[in-house]
Amino acid sequence: MSTATASTNLMNNYARWPISLVKGQGNQVWDDQGKKYLDFTSGIAVTSLGHVPPKVTAKLHEQLDTLWHCSNLYHIPQQEVLAEKLTRLSGLDRAFFCNSGAEANEALIKIARRYAQKVKGTDRYEVITFAQSFHGRTLATLTATGQDKVKDGFAPLPIGFVTVPYNDLSAVKAAITDKTCAIMLELVQGEGGVNPADDAWVKALRNLCDEHGFLLLIDEIQTGIARTGTWFAFQQYGIRPDAISLAKGLGSGFPIGAIVATEEVAQAFTPGTHGTTFGGNPLAATAGIATLETMEDEQILDKVAAIHNRLMEELLKLQTAHPDKVIAVRGKGLLMGVELAVPVGDVIAYAREHGVLLLSAGTHVLRLLPSFITTHEEIEQVMTVLNEALK
Ligand SMILES: *Cc1c(COP(=O)(O)O)cnc(C)c1O
Repeated sequence: MSTATASTNLMNNYARWPISLVKGQGNQVWDDQGKKYLDFTSGIAVTSLGHVPPKVTAKLHEQLDTLWHCSNLYHIPQQEVLAEKLTRLSGLDRAFFCNSGAEANEALIKIARRYAQKVKGTDRYEVITFAQSFHGRTLATLTATGQDKVKDGFAPLPIGFVTVPYNDLSAVKAAITDKTCAIMLELVQGEGGVNPADDAWVKALRNLCDEHGFLLLIDEIQTGIARTGTWFAFQQYGIRPDAISLAKGLGSGFPIGAIVATEEVAQAFTPGTHGTTFGGNPLAATAGIATLETMEDEQILDKVAAIHNRLMEELLKLQTAHPDKVIAVRGKGLLMGVELAVPVGDVIAYAREHGVLLLSAGTHVLRLLPSFITTHEEIEQVMTVLNEALK
């Protein structure tokens, strides 16, 4: 029997599709029945170089034979190398490594509070966040998240968060108090429906932060590491954030998270103020180094742009062919959303039966997260299935 239908000792917290994946190579994955699928989800924006990318795999094999773990009691040279890459690519100054996205956002919130209180000597702690955002599942990050379903049943929630409408400057201004220490946002809301931030709004947020002396925190967990066509999405907005969080695409599937901040903000984390046992261990940091090295060697930004252009062209054709069902096509780079007039779950189920794995963002948005090695033929395969599904 497939494990997909077997009885289980696992908690029931995931609404899983009824297949079990057991093998991956490039953009293909196989289930335990031997059926092959084209993965157009990249494991939710994680396996950006495809599954089991050869150069990353080779480096991990090497590290696996050398040292897995030693704790942050000691210097970890791989962290230095990865931090150099991330700061060079982002124009920020210092990195901290952890194990997941939620943990990266916890660090972002903690550094913002500690900066306000210990570096600036104020009593500020409040973070302004946005409706439809997603920042993670820990108590602080689910409180920061602008979706009620994520908070349901977890009261009491920590204080210090206020959520206002996205792309609305007057709402942000009205939410500012003498306790505000930061504004935190995604530049393309991923889980919340693939909603890009307006250019002028983001610039205005930067100005607001400068004016009032609080921090602009960008959650780049889904948008970062070339996903939106630049190394980080903020680079398309002509702003420099005070700190960013990273995770999903950073390790090609090996768990790793990070925050990267300016020198000024990084001062807030002094020895003993924050930490994690596993964060940035030699294996995880190696996965990050190998991922970024491969992306740089292969001029991945050009590839993302080319795949985006092709995909966009095809999605607009899809919209023309199904004007009553395709309401909008939006997104940046290879984080694309197709808003449908029909429930997206039916389309995803149809595609899966026909060998294509797709993802949603809410009930009516199809979220496309192809890898950066996606071919024209693979885009055509997806379009064929989508055309049939929408008939
Ligand atoms: C996935 C995601 C998170 C949470 O990351 P986890 O690794 O699941 O904890 C936070 N923010 C954004 C924007 C995400 O896409």
